Amino acid sequence: MSESGYFRPEITAMAGYTPGEQPQGGKFIKLNTNENPYPPSPRVVQAIRHTLESGLVRYPDPLATAFRQRAAEVLGVEPDWILCGNGSDDILTIVTRAFVGSGQLLRLPSPSYVLYHTLAQIQGARAEEVDFREDWTLPESFFQASPELRLAFLPNPNSPSGTLVSREKVGELTRRLPCPLLLDEAYADFADTACVDLVREHERLLVSRTLSKSYALAGLRFGFLIAQPQLIRQLVKVKDSYNCDALAIAGATAAIDDQAWLRENVARVRATRQRLTTALAELGFAVVPSHANFVWCRHGERPSRELYEQLKRNGLLVRYMDYPRWGDGLRISVGTDAQQDALLALLKARV
Ligand SMILES: *Cc1c(COP(=O)(O)O)cnc(C)c1O
Repeated sequence: MSESGYFRPEITAMAGYTPGEQPQGGKFIKLNTNENPYPPSPRVVQAIRHTLESGLVRYPDPLATAFRQRAAEVLGVEPDWILCGNGSDDILTIVTRAFVGSGQLLRLPSPSYVLYHTLAQIQGARAEEVDFREDWTLPESFFQASPELRLAFLPNPNSPSGTLVSREKVGELTRRLPCPLLLDEAYADFADTACVDLVREHERLLVSRTLSKSYALAGLRFGFLIAQPQLIRQLVKVKDSYNCDALAIAGATAAIDDQAWLRENVARVRATRQRLTTALAELGFAVVPSHANFVWCRHGERPSRELYEQLKRNGLLVRYMDYPRWGDGLRISVGTDAQQDALLALLKARV
């Protein structure tokens, strides 16, 4: 038997998730993985330094209580409504493991976050992809009950489109689906509406958030989930005991404590998003109006892959995506104004 013969067949059969390129030299302008172009609150570094100086001999708090207390105040819930994770990808993994077994069904919209599909494959579950309509609304089939359905994912705002499903629709979806709905609010801080408060009314609604995007802490790895406490208690059993390290807990707590910093950061990103949308449209791109910190676009004549390659040759990375049944396009993260100018200059120069 070859080495690979020992694996569960689901594992050898799957391709594995491919994250966006992360070149480890500093020479690229990176507009490909929706990182924040601005630094996090200076209090984050202070808090991490302080924790480092007091030593890392002991295990961290398994539930990240300090973070939960501060986040609960900010979000208007109680601390036992919050579960912390090593990035929100960890939260998505915990939730999938807890709800979806082998052969069962997980529903997701398409195109959306490709990782959901991978999580279903690891479980040996079936991923049912439901295509968005042309106008990025959800078709009726997304709402329908189905016997083996155990979990549905919905990123809101969605990636790669940056589009938003309304609160009314999220409420309707939660009522009609016979299974839990994981609303992935990785980008909600950049949007006008969010649905965290709906968790009070709906036991089947779980909302995930991350510090990677709006809090400018993708390298720290910290995300969290908001759901009713009886669900959180079950999910705690599934997570690694110490899934968040002491430095991450300290940094994340300081970050969520600095809401003024967050608001300023988000305002700058939103202003640049508006300018980017207008400028790309002027250059002949079809741009989907975005509620996130990126835009999804296609040029009227120039193929997306060529544009991606041209930009990369010139030291600027965007995300090229090609979806079955939907086609390809470019997802461009909102950078600083200077980064945006560099992008636009390259698109005009065509070199
Ligand atoms: C970036 C992203 C995440 C993951 O965030 P981490 O907290 O860095 O793991 C989750 N969902 C969507 C839709 C994202 O784009």
